[in-house]
Amino acid sequence: MKGTFQRLLFLPILAFLVFACEEPMREDPFVGVGAARWDVGKSANFLLSDDRFTAMEIEIAYMEGFRPTNFMMDEMTNFLQDLTLKPDGIHVIEKEIPAEGEEFYTTAHLSELENRYRESYNEGDTVSVFLLVVDGYFRQNEEEYFTIGAAYRNTSMALFGKRIAENSGGFRRPGRGNLEATVALHELGHLLGLVNVGSEMVTPHEASDEDHKFHCDNEDCLMFWAVETSNVLNFMQNSVPELDENCRNDLRANGGR
Ligand SMILES: [Zn+2]
Ligand SMILES: [Zn+2]
Repeated sequence: MKGTFQRLLFLPILAFLVFACEEPMREDPFVGVGAARWDVGKSANFLLSDDRFTAMEIEIAYMEGFRPTNFMMDEMTNFLQDLTLKPDGIHVIEKEIPAEGEEFYTTAHLSELENRYRESYNEGDTVSVFLLVVDGYFRQNEEEYFTIGAAYRNTSMALFGKRIAENSGGFRRPGRGNLEATVALHELGHLLGLVNVGSEMVTPHEASDEDHKFHCDNEDCLMFWAVETSNVLNFMQNSVPELDENCRNDLRANGGR
């Protein structure tokens, strides 16, 4: 009699446990490959603030012959240290990948290369950024915009090494490190949500021209549209342009420093 009573009490508990185990484990949507498949600007707050991620890793994969300058890598780290809250540090890892030998790269091709070579994804307290340096030019919508760099996903950006080589060094041209750093910081600015692409504008300052959406209206600002194209040569000085007050304010308002 006593045994039956115990069994009756025990069975419902067991049933409950089995049911609880069948409930699928909730996956963290902010880590791993899935969290690197969003649109540009959608990780701005994760990159800027220390609410979810307290460290940052930048993985640079460059094609043979297109290793970025140390100057560019240092500038990227300094830029991010100035603007973001990452008390556990910002860390750069670099690696060489085989040259593809293509003249033009589409966004689809960049994504495919990223799938093949990217190893660093958001994990634990670390948010990750991927920079791909390719040996050719960018082709978007069958047209060629003399693009030097592009941000193409929430934590992914690319530099077009051939354009950099063509447009730097020599007479009346910026040094390669300067040009590379300028474009890399501009693309990082997009990942941080500038302009109006993930970090809300405190004061309206997006270029009114339809062709230059998501860029700053101040031509002295790092986020002016021409900065990522060959047009940068027309106004580039001997140093990397800085973010203007409007852009800085947007980043502060979205959790940045
Ligand atoms: Zn841009
Ligand atoms: Zn600006």
